[in-house]
Amino acid sequence: MDCDVLIVGGGPAGLSLARSLADAPLRVIVVEKQPHAALEAPGYDGREIALTHRSIGTLKALGAWDLLPPEDVSPLDEARVLNGASPFALSFDPASHGGGPLSLIVPNHRIREALFRTVEHQPNLTLLAGVGVAALKTSARAAEVTLDDGRTLSAKLLVAADSRFSGVRDRLGIGAEVNRLGRSMMVCRVRHDGEHHGVATEWFDHYQTLAMLPLNGRRSSAVLTLPAAEMDGIAALDEAALGAELTRRYQGKLGRMEVDASAHVYPLATTWSRHFAATRAALIGDAAVGMHPVTAHGFNLGLQSQATLAKLVIAAAQRGRDIAAPSLLRRYEMTHRLASRPIYAATNWLVRLYTDERPGARIARHATLRAGSRLPLARQAITAMLMQR
Ligand SMILES: Cc1cc2nc3c(=O)[nH]c(=O)nc-3n(C[C@H](O)[C@H](O)[C@H](O)COP(=O)(O)OP(=O)(O)OC[C@H]3O[C@@H](n4cnc5c(N)ncnc54)[C@H](O)[C@@H]3O)c2cc1C
Repeated sequence: MDCDVLIVGGGPAGLSLARSLADAPLRVIVVEKQPHAALEAPGYDGREIALTHRSIGTLKALGAWDLLPPEDVSPLDEARVLNGASPFALSFDPASHGGGPLSLIVPNHRIREALFRTVEHQPNLTLLAGVGVAALKTSARAAEVTLDDGRTLSAKLLVAADSRFSGVRDRLGIGAEVNRLGRSMMVCRVRHDGEHHGVATEWFDHYQTLAMLPLNGRRSSAVLTLPAAEMDGIAALDEAALGAELTRRYQGKLGRMEVDASAHVYPLATTWSRHFAATRAALIGDAAVGMHPVTAHGFNLGLQSQATLAKLVIAAAQRGRDIAAPSLLRRYEMTHRLASRPIYAATNWLVRLYTDERPGARIARHATLRAGSRLPLARQAITAMLMQR
């Protein structure tokens, strides 16, 4: 065997798994198609990740948290959901759970950079950057991967961490539910005249969804979702016009807005893999579950998936057992499916409820929001989930 664990994909899920295995008696290889320089200094991609307390704990345990520039960590103290012009706001605040921020927001590229720094000198890890996967086969004995440059690598366990459109998943013959939503999400950091007071808003307005995530200072991450064709026109605006457009769409609630960093557009698609494991293989991160970003859980679930898999693999390695035994992989699959299915289904339900413009749906969401604002138990349950440690 060339290694024990072969991870395809050096994104947040792949790198955090590699780091989780640092002290295990295992040889690990990460194959990443982006060049080494892009891993070392990832470019700003507009994504601001709202981390749950559990994810913050995991990043601390991995040694990545202390590598994040403190000025890039912004507290999110309260979250409000707004519906059209309705005065009923559903509000989530941490006061009933011992205080402290509901979440901390960190730019995605900073997390990737910090994770890279935790693994760059890891003795049991070989990082092969700038090369992808051309073919693979698995058997009861081993997984064998052929790289684009013709090299072949064998491993006891193959891990797919190569995004929601995972090529490894396809090559393993694992099907997936893929929902292309025909909508695009623009993320754009803005400066504004008004104060956000640490409050994030998710405003499901008619024909658009606009979220504002509070960042340090008078800055926010504006997250605009529109039908893909309409987004093309907005994406073509220059910075001054885009600032004015976002101010208008947010009805001046935060005063005048100006673009603070380049805008990025993501076509929206959610994915759910039919299996999270196969012979000598496991799927983690977005390769297993590709969440809609609206509930900010994709990264958090990805971190959870690698922690679940790492725990099982390390325990097996320490006992001298097979790290890719069918029973181990079934256990991983079952645990992560149970952890992710409810949030995946609830998020998709929320998206359908709030983007359906038929009159019946408008009445239903108004009623849901109104009921939600009167159901303290539901609010507390969601707050507790966000603050889960
Ligand atoms: C606008 C936006 C906002 C978001 N906000 C949040 C949030 O607030 N909270 C949250 O929890 N999540 C959020 N997410 C989701 C989060 O960004 C993703 O869940 C996370 O990046 C997934 O990590 P990953 O490592 O699984 O996959 P990716 O980040 O997609 O990384 C996959 C890696 O695999 C590599 N790769 C692909 N194919 C191959 C191949 N054939 N060979 C080798 N390498 C390959 C890629 O180059 C890449 O480096 C957001 C997403 C978007 C789009």
